[in-house]
Amino acid sequence: MSKNYDVIVVGVGGMGSSICYHLAKRGVKTLGIEQYGISHTYGSSFGDSRIFRLSQFAGAEYVPLAIRAKDLWAELEDYSNEKVLTTTGGLDAGPDDGPIFSGALKSSQESGLDHEVLDANELKRRFPAFNLPSHYKGIYQKDAGIIVPERAVVAHTRAAMQHGATITTYATVKKIEPNVNSVKVTTDKGCYEAEKLVMSGGPWTGEILPELKQILTPERGCVGWFTGDKPEYFQVGTMPICIIDDETGSFYGFPEFGARLGFKIGTNIHLKEYGKNDELRRGFDQTDEERLRHYTKKYMNKGNGVLTTASDCVWTLTPDEHFILDVHPNYPNISIAAGFSGYGFKFCPVIGEIMADIALGKQPSFDLNLHKLSRFN
Ligand SMILES: Cc1cc2nc3c(=O)[nH]c(=O)nc-3n(C[C@H](O)[C@H](O)[C@H](O)COP(=O)(O)OP(=O)(O)OC[C@H]3O[C@@H](n4cnc5c(N)ncnc54)[C@H](O)[C@@H]3O)c2cc1C
Repeated sequence: MSKNYDVIVVGVGGMGSSICYHLAKRGVKTLGIEQYGISHTYGSSFGDSRIFRLSQFAGAEYVPLAIRAKDLWAELEDYSNEKVLTTTGGLDAGPDDGPIFSGALKSSQESGLDHEVLDANELKRRFPAFNLPSHYKGIYQKDAGIIVPERAVVAHTRAAMQHGATITTYATVKKIEPNVNSVKVTTDKGCYEAEKLVMSGGPWTGEILPELKQILTPERGCVGWFTGDKPEYFQVGTMPICIIDDETGSFYGFPEFGARLGFKIGTNIHLKEYGKNDELRRGFDQTDEERLRHYTKKYMNKGNGVLTTASDCVWTLTPDEHFILDVHPNYPNISIAAGFSGYGFKFCPVIGEIMADIALGKQPSFDLNLHKLSRFN
């Protein structure tokens, strides 16, 4: 048996890297175990950009989490001397009785967020990147922006290591054995023991803890980067990050950013492909492109140009699409951070803080009723 730790974190992806950091920062002897390298393309936390925003169509309950996350992203940037979050402003647009506009408006109003309500004329005047129907309205929120997921994972992992965490890579967790006062973890590289364990295995969580398989569903999604006839319409400063309602569900977009050519779009309801992460089809094909072009043709202003880059990715859904942030119902020394859906990344730092509290038996300073496992009983 290898060294003993206070807490083992299984999975050093978006959430796990942050959990390792927040534990290590408190002086907790932490081991993070990752089956691949740090920042890879097999899980949920890659693809150059993730939306950050304070207004939340998923519910006003998420606003305090986003506000705390914003402060913690800034803290991480200061600590790591690295830019992780770029502010671009954000637009949530749709018919006023649709879930995107009404959800963003409700969460902004209930939480007292600084926001603007824009009608179709104002949307057209302010944001030439979009060609929105005349009955669409928008909520503009200036604090929204773009997080680089790869750099966020790197910054959190490095900060965790600088605070004394041990990170083991290319080690796959095969078995978890909880005992009364400890948890034993067997990997293909060796065995480890700790007082507590935090599970943050992303789309693999249901494989490692099969009792969660029924409530954690990996779903394949795709994103693409497209050119427009007027590149100046699609730049940071002109185009905000956006979420736009459509009868197929909704799609989201980013201005041209980082190493890619063109603006990026994706949809949280792609082609409804569900299954085990390692068995979902991977790659990007014509059907994926057609799906994305539905949005570029319909809603972008002369933005149905060349598909310059494309990629697929997997997120994990719970039945109600809210996260799981809780202690295991049968094993009090195991806690679970899972089911972060297509909108979890922005919350990584605050999830790290919350899971460190949960693992250490401290009351988190947020109302987490929405995220209890018992809601699925
Ligand atoms: C295409 C796409 C677009 C998205 N857009 C946004 C967005 O704009 N804004 C936003 O906020 N969110 C967005 N999300 C959601 C967000 O990216 C995810 O919620 C988040 O990345 C989930 O992080 P995670 O740590 O749970 O999973 P991951 O980052 O996948 O981490 C899980 C880690 O566990 C490791 N692991 C698993 N099993 C084992 C094992 N047995 N042994 C060792 N290690 C193991 C994996 O290798 C992996 O590194 C998007 C997601 C996708 C896929």
